[in-house]
Amino acid sequence: MLDLNELTIVKLGGSVITHKGSSPPAINQENLLRIAEELKASKESLIVILGGGAHGHQAAHAHGFGELSTPPEQLIRGIPSIRHNMSVLSLAVEEALNDAGGHGVVLPPFLMAALNNKKITSFQTSFIQEAIQSGFTVITHGDVCFDESLGASILSGDTIAVYLAKELRATSLYIGTDVDGVFEEDPKTNPEAVHIDIIDNTNITNVLSKAGPSNATDVTGGMKKKLEDLFTLTGLNVNIAIFNLGVSDRLSTLLSGKTPPCTTIRF
Ligand code: ADP
Repeated sequence: MLDLNELTIVKLGGSVITHKGSSPPAINQENLLRIAEELKASKESLIVILGGGAHGHQAAHAHGFGELSTPPEQLIRGIPSIRHNMSVLSLAVEEALNDAGGHGVVLPPFLMAALNNKKITSFQTSFIQEAIQSGFTVITHGDVCFDESLGASILSGDTIAVYLAKELRATSLYIGTDVDGVFEEDPKTNPEAVHIDIIDNTNITNVLSKAGPSNATDVTGGMKKKLEDLFTLTGLNVNIAIFNLGVSDRLSTLLSGKTPPCTTIRF
């Protein structure tokens, strides 16, 4: 593996960078411009991973992703519209980042990843490593990919974030979403839900039993799936935080090595 020095991976939740309920899909430009500024606080090599939000999930839903009975041909027919939407979103992020003085390049998973039964069987991380070594911020995103068994399936931004954190030995992984981290219950359905400040091996089983899916049209799984994916980083000593990307300065605080209100995770 090439030497990437210190690597931070930031996941931008689709619920924050898009208007998740909006059809046709719309980018949350105000949040995007703020986030592009906050990303400048990073002192390490950076990979930015986008969730699908309105751009990914609506098109995926319309083509039967997320339903077990959808035939492969129908899923494959959904590839162009999902790819188009995710390209539009990722280019908007690239533009915002570069307008703010960054050097972002988009590398789509469709061209790098192969799946079998929704699991990654290969991922050309060499392109990502070379781009980072060239001084770029790599932007990648939840995407539709060819799937050996199913025809096509959705590779979520959360799954990519965890996969790359493991493969490229990231020092930090910050997952931005639209709530202040992990709670004992979904805070959208119970505003009184108790916030969990730290998740570690002593409470993860209990937390997983309470975390749930997303409320929006989401084919990739919400908070529970995020935690299950993150659990696979056990023993790798990655600094993990789940934080509210919808609130100003939380991302820049994390990137400058401090801890804003969030859930930190140590496995
Ligand atoms: P994103 O689009 O930002 O990746 P998701 O919609 O996939 O986010 O997942 C975040 C959502 O998970 C929250 O908006 C919340 O409604 C839901 N959720 C379910 N259970 C929990 C929980 N225990 N703690 C926090 N959020 C939860």
